[in-house]
Amino acid sequence: MCDHYSTDLWLDHFEYRRLTVPLGEDKIPLLYILGVLRMTDVTLVTGDGIGPEIAEATRRCIDATGAEINWAVAEAGVEVMEKVGTPLPEATVESIKRTGVALKAPITTPVGKGFRSINVHLRQSLDLYACLRPCKSYEGVRSRYTDIDLVVVRENTEDCYAGVEFQSGKDDTDALINWINKHNERKVRAKSGITIKPISVLATERIVGFAFAYARRMGRKKVTSVHKANIMKYSDGLWLEVSRQVAKKYPDIEFEDRIVDNMCMQLIQKPELYDVLVLPNLYGDILSDLCAGLVGGLGVAPGANIGEKGAIFEATHGSAPKYKGQNKVNPTALILSGVLLLRHIGKMAEADKLENAVAAVIAEGKSVTYDMKPHRDDPTAVGTSQMADAIIEKMRRYSIPDVGDSTLSV
Ligand code: NAD
Repeated sequence: MCDHYSTDLWLDHFEYRRLTVPLGEDKIPLLYILGVLRMTDVTLVTGDGIGPEIAEATRRCIDATGAEINWAVAEAGVEVMEKVGTPLPEATVESIKRTGVALKAPITTPVGKGFRSINVHLRQSLDLYACLRPCKSYEGVRSRYTDIDLVVVRENTEDCYAGVEFQSGKDDTDALINWINKHNERKVRAKSGITIKPISVLATERIVGFAFAYARRMGRKKVTSVHKANIMKYSDGLWLEVSRQVAKKYPDIEFEDRIVDNMCMQLIQKPELYDVLVLPNLYGDILSDLCAGLVGGLGVAPGANIGEKGAIFEATHGSAPKYKGQNKVNPTALILSGVLLLRHIGKMAEADKLENAVAAVIAEGKSVTYDMKPHRDDPTAVGTSQMADAIIEKMRRYSIPDVGDSTLSV
């Protein structure tokens, strides 16, 4: 069993940061050095479509918390592709590797050119193995449910999404089918397409360890491992067995497991029974959208992809190109992703301050975008930038408590 996926993961991220002090100067003012030392380098990927607008709104909100962030602005997406011939310049990947932390606005997937998906390429090149999706109810967001507070932790690197696929009718696929039929009681029909579902000990240990470390760090009580081990004994069965082994290292956190179909029903019927869910890639993909649906949809669904080499915080929704440049769309999901980022870099009080201000603005329901109004053509809806202004104004009216105090309420 590997032992390094502990709460130390977050401490490790502080070591990624490099400080640049202007050594060429004759004198470096002490206050300048202290100021630089307090700053945290974060890469800001502004994206395309609605990306730049919500990135700017989020950056302003984060700065207004008093968190001292040194933003390294980096480009990605279809617009930069027209300029430099690639949607993901190497400088952007290098910047994220240097800072270890990025806030990323959505990026349009170029159709038929280059990468299959820039997002997938980024996750793979930085080995961001954990997808984190907190799903929380906020008063004022229309939803069938209230008081939901779930965290979905999805494994990002293997399972049916590992990309090991064999196309129907190809020679290699026929050879594989022949091999399987020779070595297995269960036969595969000719002209089948095949997707392999690898689940490894290493990837399961690190994602389940991540879920427990996250639960412990955030004061959460329970981790539920989700699987279909009763049917897929060698892949999901391994997942369950490794989950049980990892759970033994965290006796302070309750552990249980659920079969994925039962889990879906339970989440609809009694979501309040659950806390942190950890899932292989495919079930995680499906259940994270299910859980986002419980709390009001993609407009309020923040996310993060985290690994040993860095972490990228981003909204779940895409670049909504038809709304580009209209100052219209909802910045909440990216701002809440900023809240996760602040917690990730240890700025807990600033994170609470921002989350409480977002919650207060949504609960009031006045300075919110069209999608949060009872009717989409409500003339009182405000723009992206004005919603950010309202959140900043809420924060201004309340001073920040000492770091470590997480009980601030606005
Ligand atoms: P989308 O999420 O961009 O938009 C779907 C619809 O949801 C929009 O037309 C709009 O009505 C609504 N919407 C989305 N975000 C909103 C917001 N902040 N406020 C208000 N309404 C909002 O999904 P899509 O149209 O399927 O994808 C557009 C592009 O984004 C595609 O190229 C896709 O590949 C890409 N994408 C990127 C990411 C990412 O960068 N992480 C994620 C998903 C999709």
